[in-house]
Amino acid sequence: MTNRLAEAVEMLKGIGVRMTPQRHAILTYLYSSMGHPTADEIYKALEGNFPNMSVATVYNNLRVFKDAGLVRELTYGDASSRFDANMDDHYHVICRKCGKITDFDHPPLFKMEQEAAKATGYQVETHRMEVYGVCPECQKKEKQ
Ligand SMILES: [Zn+2]
Ligand SMILES: [Zn+2]
Repeated sequence: MTNRLAEAVEMLKGIGVRMTPQRHAILTYLYSSMGHPTADEIYKALEGNFPNMSVATVYNNLRVFKDAGLVRELTYGDASSRFDANMDDHYHVICRKCGKITDFDHPPLFKMEQEAAKATGYQVETHRMEVYGVCPECQKKEKQ
């Protein structure tokens, strides 16, 4: 994770993005958790260290990272966007009870894309797939 963080900082410098302490803290949070936090969750985790920071600041920084290709914004219906610093190809398993998102490594389903193109005549560009269920923590709670 330290490597990815250092690379990201260098990359941002290269495109002229100034590294502020808040920006650095948000990046560090993203790479150390490797979760899928909302802007609000990041804000809550960091506000103790940055009393002048607002959710809008966090959001603006996430936009900068997104434009730089460092994070992906995940949108699911009306819920707040979540941000993913894992830019490798991967799928998500989502808990329908608590909304937690877990990375799931699986080879990209290119064959399905080809089949979709063949069947429909579309020029297929990408696909989106999510797996839904109940996470281990919520299963434990259900049993209690
Ligand atoms: Zn859950
Ligand atoms: Zn992910």
